[in-house]
Amino acid sequence: MSKTIIISNRLPVQLQISEGGLTAKPSVGGLATGMKSVHHGGESLWIGWSGLTEEDTPVELIPEIDRALAAHSCAQVPLNNTEMEGFYFGFSNRTIWPLFHYFLEYTEFELEFWNIYKSVNQKFADAILEKTKDHDIIWVHDYQLMLVPQMVREKRPDATIGFFLHIPFPSYEIFRTLPWREEVLQGLLGADLIGFHTYDYERHFLSSARRLLGLEVSFNDIYLQNRVIKVDSFPMGIDYEKFHNAAKASYALTGKERTDLQKKMDDHKISAPGTKLIVSIDRLDYSKGIAKRINAFEYFLNKYPEYKEKVRLIILAVPSRSNVPQYKLLKREIDELVGRINGELSTVNWTPIWYFYRSLPFESLIDLYTSCDIAWLTPLRDGMNLVAKEYIATRIDKTGVLILSEMAGSAYEMNEALLINPNNFEQQADTLKTAIEMPKEQQMARNIFLQNRLRRYNVEVWANEFMNSLKAKQNGEATFVSQKWSPAIQDNIINQYKTAKKRLLFLDYDGTLVGFHKDPQKAAPDKELYNLLDTLHRQKGTTLFLISGRDKETFAKWFLNKKYNMIVEHGVWISRKGETFKLLEKVKKEWMEKITPVLESFVDRTPGSFIEEKNYSLAWHYRNTDPDFGEKRATELNTVLTSLIGNDDISVLNGNKVMEVKSSNVNKGRAATRMLSEKEYDFVFSIGDDWTDEFMFQELPSSAVTVKVGLKKTQAKYHVEGVSRVRELLKSFTNI
Ligand code: UDP
Repeated sequence: MSKTIIISNRLPVQLQISEGGLTAKPSVGGLATGMKSVHHGGESLWIGWSGLTEEDTPVELIPEIDRALAAHSCAQVPLNNTEMEGFYFGFSNRTIWPLFHYFLEYTEFELEFWNIYKSVNQKFADAILEKTKDHDIIWVHDYQLMLVPQMVREKRPDATIGFFLHIPFPSYEIFRTLPWREEVLQGLLGADLIGFHTYDYERHFLSSARRLLGLEVSFNDIYLQNRVIKVDSFPMGIDYEKFHNAAKASYALTGKERTDLQKKMDDHKISAPGTKLIVSIDRLDYSKGIAKRINAFEYFLNKYPEYKEKVRLIILAVPSRSNVPQYKLLKREIDELVGRINGELSTVNWTPIWYFYRSLPFESLIDLYTSCDIAWLTPLRDGMNLVAKEYIATRIDKTGVLILSEMAGSAYEMNEALLINPNNFEQQADTLKTAIEMPKEQQMARNIFLQNRLRRYNVEVWANEFMNSLKAKQNGEATFVSQKWSPAIQDNIINQYKTAKKRLLFLDYDGTLVGFHKDPQKAAPDKELYNLLDTLHRQKGTTLFLISGRDKETFAKWFLNKKYNMIVEHGVWISRKGETFKLLEKVKKEWMEKITPVLESFVDRTPGSFIEEKNYSLAWHYRNTDPDFGEKRATELNTVLTSLIGNDDISVLNGNKVMEVKSSNVNKGRAATRMLSEKEYDFVFSIGDDWTDEFMFQELPSSAVTVKVGLKKTQAKYHVEGVSRVRELLKSFTNI
């Protein structure tokens, strides 16, 4: 039976070594809860770091630790202090974290960090390979492990791998500053499904994949030679019932049973009736905008002094990554800021800010949520922000106002909150005033919507949706109409090939026999290809045609002395057995004068594009342009050309990063059927990669063996993965 394997930096178990021995308690964090439905019983295994470095682990306890973890269906990847420094505090938290949160100025590009990150990722990948079997489903989590998917894929090409990024994926403009950007992308692309919290992160990732790796992207699919990767957004939810029920339980407690924090807040409410409590809860991280929030609070009190002594801001800052220098500085900055503002504005009866630098037990957290009238969350950048969702879930009577930064992933789903730009103090001050004055009915009307959504799309649904999407990929979804070329199909076709007396082969050139090149002239045939074509060309009973959209001059230079049969410019010219090219079709060319200036104006306005003038057609190439811009221009050009050519006998072909204008009566399908009609053939084969080859696949008789190169939709019967597979396939025709 297949297992589910979860991999994250930290295991969902807290280990503690004390004199009494070892204790292992399950963690209660968001991810651990969310994965409950995925990580249960003996059907799953969670692989990660235990939280104890090798230096902190007494050797004699190791077997006991492994046993304790196994009891929670967990297995550890042991890490030492140097690895933690370079991999976790270094590359993860001093390079990727600031960069992906748009803090370029805090981002450190250290080769040493990167090298350790790679080796630790390899350790995780090795642990997966050691502990899993072929059909297991692997789900890798977060930015610490971005290279793991590809590292596993290399050893297990058929594995089913999902990856979820819990932080933002930044815009291409930011991501491209990373010295190891290609490696990181390649690492992620080892997955079958890549998930993000929001559509924006997804869009940024797709854009980087296209721009940096030149990959083909269609909607949210990325086409590699041999795989299609799905990229999608799955906004993470919370364990709604847990927070809602805890809030109910907190209300039910009587005076004495209440927590100290709750008592303090109760006292405050009694002593200062009508005042409002505003809460903010974050890890002490520069991405959370805590200092800006405190400044904005001061700004608010100065702009609306009538609220002095009427509001209090409670800041809970949870200590985090305190051995990263930037975090130490931030701690000092916030300490000083709170000190200064409290010093300047406090009165005998009032301290504007209550500041806690610690983490609170769950019950106290609930008390904060339930006692505060307003939650004010102003991250400068945040992958999701679960605190916003938790606050709403605890509002049993549906009152309470959430002020939330637009820069948090959760803002996309929480439109009914008061959304603000954390850099706009004027807006923040006015929004605070709106929140303080908001009538209860309006608060409730907003929160009903929010609560219903959070209850429905909770963290369990999030995990299940991701898993279902991954399983759908594993089951191969009905993406293809064509069949994958397999050894069994190959055997069968070779048998037909062997027994046939007269065979006709049509081979497309670019993208089929050779890969694409930035400069088409550089995609010249290599020795291996010549040998292969020579053998097929000389084979008894076989008629080979190279069939291409290329101009005749280039093909004459490359192949004329080889005496191969050639059809070029999509069927305008033909050369047999080394003769000079002759016209195969009567074609008009007067239209070219009219179209050339149009294409020229597109070249001028689209850097990187160029015109290829063939004898009877004009091609506008845009492979070397910015991919998004190129596509946009291509659509524009298509519209312009379609309206220009009207009823003339010319048509526009959309090839692979090329738009070609040519006579309508010319295409590869028509040329191929003409060749077929000249003689009797008992085996017909055609292979090609792009749109222009579809004419062949359509027009050849149904008995023909038609093969598409790549994974795009096609009329061909079969598909193969890429140029090297095409060559293997053709080689099998030579061994008869
Ligand atoms: N939290 C906690 N103890 C505290 C304060 C906060 O466990 O003392 C939790 C809080 O309930 C929330 C999480 O920490 O689930 C913070 O998640 P969020 O997405 O808001 O920010 P992150 O820390 O992941 O950047």
